[in-house]
Amino acid sequence: MIELRTPAEIERLRIAGEFVGSVLTATAAASAVGVNLLELDALAHDMIRARGAESCYIDYHPSFGGSPFGKVICTSVNDAALHGLPHDYRLRDGDVLSLDFAASVDGWVSDSAVTIIVGTPRPEDQRLIEVTSRALDAGIAAATVGNRIGDISAAIGDVAHAAGLKVNLDFGGHGVGTIMHGDPHIANDGRAGRGLPLRAGLVFAIEPWFMLGTKKLYTDEDGWTLRSSDGSRAAHFEHTVAVTDDGPVVLSAR
Ligand code: MG
Repeated sequence: MIELRTPAEIERLRIAGEFVGSVLTATAAASAVGVNLLELDALAHDMIRARGAESCYIDYHPSFGGSPFGKVICTSVNDAALHGLPHDYRLRDGDVLSLDFAASVDGWVSDSAVTIIVGTPRPEDQRLIEVTSRALDAGIAAATVGNRIGDISAAIGDVAHAAGLKVNLDFGGHGVGTIMHGDPHIANDGRAGRGLPLRAGLVFAIEPWFMLGTKKLYTDEDGWTLRSSDGSRAAHFEHTVAVTDDGPVVLSAR
């Protein structure tokens, strides 16, 4: 079901987004060589408790997950693209780390992700991150009244294709509101002018993610972490966005 949010509801979603952004800022700042992924999860968990927020991940158990997620943040390193389950791993120089975090504040959810390089960057990783971030910006810019969902998908896909990247369509953006995953689905590639017309009050997460060498994934033995089939590295950027009469508004800004 597609729901339209009032300005007052969008303000509550923005408050949730502010918190989600603050957790991503803190965990990204803490991500240094030698830091354990479990420490990043603990930091995010402490911030959830301090804010009186609720994790959207810890009990999350969809059909594609091997068991309840059990952690509060996704930490996807290098060839891990999405749903990286925090585990006993210390970050190394040059690691590409995607942090994906969603939480509910007073019943309203925000979902956002960022990719960083730990320590010394490799040029190809920097480029992948720059392209993925630019695809998010393009997708957000297309989230205007009068456009359609397909315009967002096409804007994201165009950036990927221009950079020579292939796009996996298994996971993409989604409606966000009182639950983390709602309608509509927003593929990271598609045809402009198709799909749901965008109306003021729509709120959704836009989340391009690309892998350097492939569009195929496999699931790690942990039952959650999705890795590139060829071992190439991945990047992922996400914001929760409201469509308004004044244009797109990023609710999870950092
Ligand atoms: Mg997310």
